[in-house]
Amino acid sequence: MWCDQELRAQFTRLNEVLTSQSWFKVYEVGSGVYAIAEPYNFQEIISYLIIGSEKALLFDTGMGLSSIASVVKELTRLPIIVLNSHTHYDHIGGNFEFDEVLAMNMDYTQNRADNGMPHTVVQHEVTTEAICLDHLPVADTAGYHINPFTISSHIQDGSQIDIGGRNLKVIAVPGHTPDAIALLDEVNGYLWTGDTFYEAPIWLFDPETNLAVYQQSIKKLGKLAGQLTSVFPAHNTPVASPKRLTELVIAFDQVITGKKEPLNSEESDHVSDDALLFEFEHFSFMIRKDLLIMKNPLNYTTFKKNWEANIGDREELIPTPLEAMKEFEIREHTRQFLAESGLPRSASPFLSFGPYFDKNGVIELAVDEVYPRLDADPKRYILLGSDGAGNPIVLDTFEKDAIFWLDHEDSFSPQPMNSSIEALATFLLIYRSFIQRILSENGGDAVIDANFTDLQFGELKLELTNVDAQALDEETFWYDQLEGLLVNREFYRKENGSG
Ligand SMILES: [Zn+2]
Ligand SMILES: [Zn+2]
Repeated sequence: MWCDQELRAQFTRLNEVLTSQSWFKVYEVGSGVYAIAEPYNFQEIISYLIIGSEKALLFDTGMGLSSIASVVKELTRLPIIVLNSHTHYDHIGGNFEFDEVLAMNMDYTQNRADNGMPHTVVQHEVTTEAICLDHLPVADTAGYHINPFTISSHIQDGSQIDIGGRNLKVIAVPGHTPDAIALLDEVNGYLWTGDTFYEAPIWLFDPETNLAVYQQSIKKLGKLAGQLTSVFPAHNTPVASPKRLTELVIAFDQVITGKKEPLNSEESDHVSDDALLFEFEHFSFMIRKDLLIMKNPLNYTTFKKNWEANIGDREELIPTPLEAMKEFEIREHTRQFLAESGLPRSASPFLSFGPYFDKNGVIELAVDEVYPRLDADPKRYILLGSDGAGNPIVLDTFEKDAIFWLDHEDSFSPQPMNSSIEALATFLLIYRSFIQRILSENGGDAVIDANFTDLQFGELKLELTNVDAQALDEETFWYDQLEGLLVNREFYRKENGSG
């Protein structure tokens, strides 16, 4: 079936370089730049060979279905340095054929290098729907797997790789994977984007994908667009206009802010049930649903579903009866949220939520009943709960239902917390995931010892920022919480003598 596919139209306009290889198609796409394409498998992977005067850099090594070392040998006699755009299996298949392999210094990357990928994970790549076996010199479909490889040295964001008369700069672009990089040849204005950008459905689907981080990364690339002449992506077609990077930033912003509608299931019949496809003129995004919903405040149904999917001790949600709210003028979405979902009885960081009952067992939402010293219009605040220091957390019906904490040491003066009940609830969910993540990745004492990495912290901050940016302004509740995490970490690091 895949054998009937025509090559993409762009290939006919490129300078083909003939080799003896039947699996790879090679094109000269820039000065000293060869695209090594694998158009006979549905991934349509493209690796690149970049020629210097002393060495050549091979950016990705493809599927590992046929020897990429053999085709590289026909193109240059220079020593080869391998560097991967990221370590998804479709880009590292030939790594094992080379001695010099540069990589990011990350557990994620090291795991891929140590383990490769077994046949069971990649066998779908060699079914007749996925591949045209006629082009493979040796079609060992039953044995196909990804070989482990050895990393010879590490690179990081900003590393310069000198291959003789040509400098290649590494730009970290985490998001699609934590170890994703782009490669920049400043002199020629070339940028290799890996899977961060290509002109096809861009996959933001895997467990290691992080949309907030991806957004930061593409913004970095978008800023480079003006100084570029060519963009070289890792799938489908090898040459793209630098203008696409600007379009990419704008398009992704529309997706994240909910301004762009996904295609419905009939329009995108090959899309997995877990994914949404957002289509733009030159590319599209295939995004796993549960990654996407975290980027805006969640509505009550989605929050409830996500919170209850993973509930801990004393974390049950407590709805507020409609009857108790009738005294207050609140917005319909707020009323619905409180009545249908409510907030958890307790949540990190040291928060607890009501509702509160007066001595007759009646729900008390008016904050002045519980905090008699508070002098405010009784119709103004709805009491939601309190923080670890005993300050009330309230919903301010005079301020569009925004959330404040009232500083009991300063005459209950209102201090900003979140812009809505949905934003507060979504923050609780993101914060809880952060705690669960550091416990599972850094060990059972990670919370007590404030043991988290800059990456984990950065991702927490980005996710919160995407949901409710104002809530992270200086001297807000959440700003102080995040600062507190860093201060604690510093303290425990000194305590443990690790600097
Ligand atoms: Zn990938
Ligand atoms: Zn890929």
